[in-house]
Amino acid sequence: MRPLQPHALRVATRGTSREINRRIALNLIRLHQPISRADLARLMGTRRGAVSLLVGELIQRGAVFEGATGEATRGRKPTFLYIDSRKRCVVAIDIRPTRTFVLVTDLVGQQLASVTSFPTERDPKRFVATLAKRVRAVLLENKDLGRCLGVGVVVPGMVDTEAGKVLLAPNLAWRDLSLRDPIAKALGLPVQIENSGKACALAQLWATRGAQAPSNFVYLTVSDGLGVGIVLGGELVRGQHNIAGEFGHVPLNIDGPRCGCGASGCWEAYVSNLATLSRYFGRELGDRSGPSNISLTVPDLIARARGGDGKALAAILSTGRYLGLGLGSLVNAIDPSLVYIGGEITTAWDLIEDTVRAALAERALTPSAGATPIVIVPPEQYPRLRGAAALVAAPSFAKEVVA
Ligand SMILES: [Zn+2]
Repeated sequence: MRPLQPHALRVATRGTSREINRRIALNLIRLHQPISRADLARLMGTRRGAVSLLVGELIQRGAVFEGATGEATRGRKPTFLYIDSRKRCVVAIDIRPTRTFVLVTDLVGQQLASVTSFPTERDPKRFVATLAKRVRAVLLENKDLGRCLGVGVVVPGMVDTEAGKVLLAPNLAWRDLSLRDPIAKALGLPVQIENSGKACALAQLWATRGAQAPSNFVYLTVSDGLGVGIVLGGELVRGQHNIAGEFGHVPLNIDGPRCGCGASGCWEAYVSNLATLSRYFGRELGDRSGPSNISLTVPDLIARARGGDGKALAAILSTGRYLGLGLGSLVNAIDPSLVYIGGEITTAWDLIEDTVRAALAERALTPSAGATPIVIVPPEQYPRLRGAAALVAAPSFAKEVVA
């Protein structure tokens, strides 16, 4: 999928299809709603009559509706156009190695019901059966939300989106696993799957508005693992084999802790939630021996640190330092205009920011690269679930670039 770059839009001329013009109109309505036909015509740089024809078709298709009459001092009062997200919903799924989260949103990614979760089963058949049962239950409980247009799924691993396959999810030991079609079959709904870091980056790209929208950025999602999405020149980087951007598996230290991918010392093995918790308990990552404190979470650990637990604070600060050191390599390789970071650890940003920035500045090759802005995406915005929702909602707005 090539997302539209709203700031680079031009109205299509002869030879470009009507469908593309409809998509441009739809995307502009989404960005500027509520908007009058006259303003839409101005934004598209075309005649009002041509726009009215396009809008008529969009209304007929149920993509757009006319809302409240606007204020006009004289003459005919304009009616405003809105994206019609009524009576239609999307199910978003965030698969993490420990738990899987489910959220129902509207077509613009707004949360419509509370988030639910269940433990992730490693056996793919049992996982799909449980997932289908949970999704059916959520849709049944929320019947008033209307027709479900599809299910977006983010996966903690590398994905071939076209084939609908998980290539490798190290922390679930899923390899060459067909996931999209079994879920679609079980639910009878269209399903899109994507890597979690890439989905977050796509959703960010889709949601960013205006001419100042960044076209070179990196999105880090720190959870049970570390997902990375890279956008360059306004496009998500996938690479030849769908593994581009896997900085989580670039080593910080080849003699470091064992990573879920089988290698040692990967960045992920230093900064993931599981790595932070292992550090607190003085254990090797992946070590299941000894008393289990598996129920402790990173938010619990942050609460302990704020409550005066020095060991908890030290564990969090170490994660901050490793986060910054890895960011240094990433900034040297990609040189983005900014870095988004999502995940529970960001709720301790006031505690770790200085440490992260100092480590980044230490490794970055120039002072300006060392000062690359970092933007925190709070967990309460459910960035991974919004990324999953965008997989279904975005394609109707964002297809090929037309400029
Ligand atoms: Zn690894």
